[in-house]
Amino acid sequence: MSQEIGPLDVALEQLKIAAEILDLDPGIHVFLSRPKRTLSVSIPIKMDNGNTCIYWGCRVQHIDALGPFKGGIRYHPCVDLAEVTALAMWMTWKCAVVNIPYGGAKGGVCCNPKEMSKAELEHLTRRYTNMLLDFIGPRRDVPAPDVYTNAQTMAWIMDTYSRFKGYSIPECVTGKPIILGGSEGRTEATSRGVIISIREAAKRLGIKMKGATVAVQGYGNVGWNAAKIAHDLGAKIVAVSDSKGGIYNQQGLDPYKVLEHKEKKGSVLGYEKAKKEVTNAELLEQKCDILIPAALENQITQTNAGAIKAKIVGEAANGPTTPRADEILREKKVFLIPDILANAGGVTASYFEWVQNLTREHWTLGEVNQKLESILIKAFNDVYKTMNEEETSMRTAALLLGVGRVAEAIKTLGLWP
Ligand code: NAD
Repeated sequence: MSQEIGPLDVALEQLKIAAEILDLDPGIHVFLSRPKRTLSVSIPIKMDNGNTCIYWGCRVQHIDALGPFKGGIRYHPCVDLAEVTALAMWMTWKCAVVNIPYGGAKGGVCCNPKEMSKAELEHLTRRYTNMLLDFIGPRRDVPAPDVYTNAQTMAWIMDTYSRFKGYSIPECVTGKPIILGGSEGRTEATSRGVIISIREAAKRLGIKMKGATVAVQGYGNVGWNAAKIAHDLGAKIVAVSDSKGGIYNQQGLDPYKVLEHKEKKGSVLGYEKAKKEVTNAELLEQKCDILIPAALENQITQTNAGAIKAKIVGEAANGPTTPRADEILREKKVFLIPDILANAGGVTASYFEWVQNLTREHWTLGEVNQKLESILIKAFNDVYKTMNEEETSMRTAALLLGVGRVAEAIKTLGLWP
């Protein structure tokens, strides 16, 4: 991973580009560049061996002009305040792009979940939630899963929050197990959205999904589900990777069997039908029609953008591409679908879960997927139209819509003259 520019620098540079085109009042630009509220916490946890470890965590709430704060919680050894602030800002624009009535937030704990037991992760989650109690809530800020957190983590958050209030409050968090009020389709919604937007881009480029070659970086919730959905549409998954490295087979990999292997061995590496192993950096440069970065930020930079061979890049991860790399990809006529559009299926399905919890309804998978599809297709069309009208990139077009809508809301609320 290149260290040339951090995620917050990327987010602020993107905001600057949009602010200039929108001719935003400089005061509003400054207001949008900072979070409304940041909570930093120190979390002491009694470990299984009897020692106490102190973990650092935070929750960043960016702008809530369009509705309550919403955003995932990340557990990762590289989590820091700048990264979480960038992720919160991207959530704000993302919700606005898909017209979901939420503001942007994000949380994180700097820890290595791979080295922690289930009991230690539960203590950490409950204690962290305890420290956020005055910050979060169904009408204030609704957390969700992100890297190395999952439905189980959300169940612990729901239980801790509900115990504090004295009654069960499923709507305080999304991405829960179905038995606790989770929505059908939420687990794969981010990936479904990624593939919907890739399919829309492919239509415009005259590329058929059936037979298209796909490389996926990151084989967690989002990467694996994206590979599965693309495979089920007839695409050929030629490369996948996880934190340990990647595998490649020009003839195609069966994503279901790769997952089985990863579950047994802890990595995609060593999968018997792989023709060769590749590093995460090499995976990005493999020959393919569609590239899906689904891991972390800062993967496609000015160093490697020139070597990308894909015709479509669908950003499942948040912030995988730097602004300089954006320019290089645009010059190369690579069709890049930006994160705030491509991975917006996750927050859209989270919104569906929240609505179902508030109304005590349970929608079928068919209903969820149909609503998801119509929201994402509309958002894709809006961004595509803006791209053509403004003669710009899909990234800038999405930012113009997202930032523009939030700025408009701020003015309408009377926060700015
Ligand atoms: P996850 O924890 O389920 O999976 C993360 C994957 O990335 C794992 O396979 C891990 O091995 C891999 N990984 C970690 N470090 C890596 C590295 N340096 N190089 C390559 N792979 C690496 O997380 P997830 O929920 O699938 O999230 C993946 C990305 O999608 C993140 O950027 C996240 O912010 C974004 N995202 C997730 C959701 C969601 O609903 N979960 C929604 C929108 C965006």
